[in-house]
Amino acid sequence: MKLLRKTALVLLAFFARFQRAPRLTVMLYHSVSDEPWQYAVSPVEFERQMKYIAERYDVIPLEQVLKHMGGAPLTRSAVSVTFDDGYRDFLTNALPVLKKFSIPATVFVSLEETARRELGTERELLRRDDAIALQHSLVTLGSHALTHRKLRRLSVDEVREEAIRSRELLCERFGALPSFFAYPKGSHSPAVAQAVKEAGYDAAFTTEPRAVQVGEEPYMVPRIQIDATISFAEFKARLTRAADWYYAMRRYL
Ligand SMILES: [Zn+2]
Repeated sequence: MKLLRKTALVLLAFFARFQRAPRLTVMLYHSVSDEPWQYAVSPVEFERQMKYIAERYDVIPLEQVLKHMGGAPLTRSAVSVTFDDGYRDFLTNALPVLKKFSIPATVFVSLEETARRELGTERELLRRDDAIALQHSLVTLGSHALTHRKLRRLSVDEVREEAIRSRELLCERFGALPSFFAYPKGSHSPAVAQAVKEAGYDAAFTTEPRAVQVGEEPYMVPRIQIDATISFAEFKARLTRAADWYYAMRRYL
């Protein structure tokens, strides 16, 4: 069944080649590492993917994604790269590749002392001593809330605390007040989005797998996840119209 689904996506990508309208995809990574974990993409595969997008797409920072959502037209298809959880292998395995291809990225950081219990992995997280290494012009830091719990299950006051306190702590630790927020485990609702907006963020990102449209609600921006289960052919397909057809088909089935 899994193989059938994977083949369907790659087949659809063939037909998507005839759809020429520019398209914007925000990609979501977690870890870049050779250690076996579903959410880790190997450094070799990551480099192959980054080389591919650098050669064929405009690779843009999230500020420009917001401009497109507000109506700025795309001249050609574009991609934006984000990382959730803030694993330390971002510095060792991802950043050198991003530098090589001049690809900007946003890292949504979790804090060791507050988020560890809910992350479900013991992988090392970015820490205070990494602040200087992270002050690179290609890197933007965002908030991934305080405790990595599903925000939809919390009270409005708790969500406010998650959004406001994480913003303050990140600023204290890494020296910049984050403008972007990513919902832990993709969990959000209109009330959660409202609390995040009131905490002062410019936009918030979900895990709803589709391309970004003009007129998109800025506190529910979709992202397509890339992980260890995805072949290179599927990776390429996910950046095309085939991904929309594929996810629509999955919802229908
Ligand atoms: Zn996360």
